[in-house]
Amino acid sequence: MAYTVPTLTDYSTAALERASAELFSALGEEASAVKNEADWKVFRDRWMARKNGVLTQINDLWLKTAPKEAKRETGARVNEIKGKVEARVMLAKDHYENVAALRNVAKTRGLYPVDIRPSDSVDISLPGIRRPIGAEHPVVKTTNEIVRVFQKLGYSVAEGPVVETDYYNFESLNFPPNHPARDTQDTLFIAGQQAKAQRERLLLRTHTSPVQIRTMEKMRPPLRIVIPGTVHRNDPPDASHSPMFHQIEGLAVDTNITFGDLKGTLDHAMKEFFGSSVKTSFRPSFFPFTEPSAEMYVSCFICGGSGRRGSDPCRPCKQTGWIEILGCGMVDPNVFEFVKDNGYDPRKVSGFAFGMGADRIALLKYGVDDIQLFFQGDVRFLRQWA
Ligand SMILES: [Zn+2]
Repeated sequence: MAYTVPTLTDYSTAALERASAELFSALGEEASAVKNEADWKVFRDRWMARKNGVLTQINDLWLKTAPKEAKRETGARVNEIKGKVEARVMLAKDHYENVAALRNVAKTRGLYPVDIRPSDSVDISLPGIRRPIGAEHPVVKTTNEIVRVFQKLGYSVAEGPVVETDYYNFESLNFPPNHPARDTQDTLFIAGQQAKAQRERLLLRTHTSPVQIRTMEKMRPPLRIVIPGTVHRNDPPDASHSPMFHQIEGLAVDTNITFGDLKGTLDHAMKEFFGSSVKTSFRPSFFPFTEPSAEMYVSCFICGGSGRRGSDPCRPCKQTGWIEILGCGMVDPNVFEFVKDNGYDPRKVSGFAFGMGADRIALLKYGVDDIQLFFQGDVRFLRQWA
């Protein structure tokens, strides 16, 4: 049954609401029945004709007769209706024109006859549905920021498998056969491989360093790569340990690379990442695949190197004013021996490598005190980075 504008006797908000809802529902139905220009003209005149169109009728039947105290609210309501009706009439025209254009395209391109149905009527006045788009996980965000610092220096990103062989994870990186890192206490080996030769046994990589060898096998020097990725160790989870965590390593190989290049590159990278006021410091260390090796410290970016926060001791730097941030060193010539045939003759090339924990840096940067929070997937925690 066609819609007719009712006379209003009740001017309460609820009654006005009901009357508008009925009107909008009729508007939607009639709009979706518009198929061509002739339909559309009838539709337009029925709702918008100055003489006896629906809009004119609500003006006469609702607004003019409204009691004084309800005038304002009714006026606002009628204006709202007017806006929506006008928009809907325009939209109905667009719709049948678009459908006609689509049919034409289908016809001229010889496509199958397409049954284009008018879509369900859309109430353009309804608020949209908010779809949260998500955000980078804090560890991913930190990783990306660090990777970008090295990309600006001309480094490319290299990646490799998480399930590795003993050869790539240990042997080619100069780990002696009885090095403690090879112990099952630290490394997660795939079970049931006793029959295989040791170098072929599969394990979850304990560092991203195998990608250094894999990349040197494929690409000749000069080489500058940064390697982000997940690694696994047999560590029981606690506030600062997780059996799965994230590393970012880097490798630069060329003729005449010196320890000075290493220091300059890493000092620059830390200033880019933590801010130009941080200082860096290197202390001797040991890694099987670099010689000499060092640990790099940055001045504490939380207390500014003072070791104190107001009258409290600074916990992240243990009051020393310095935070250990990465391990680094000159690539051990023994490592180059494994890729010598691809241009890495240790008598001709030299290089430096470095590695850091992305999770640990994210903990420090965002002042989070439990690494487990990063991996529990609690949206209330993660939403802080959205
Ligand atoms: Zn501090």
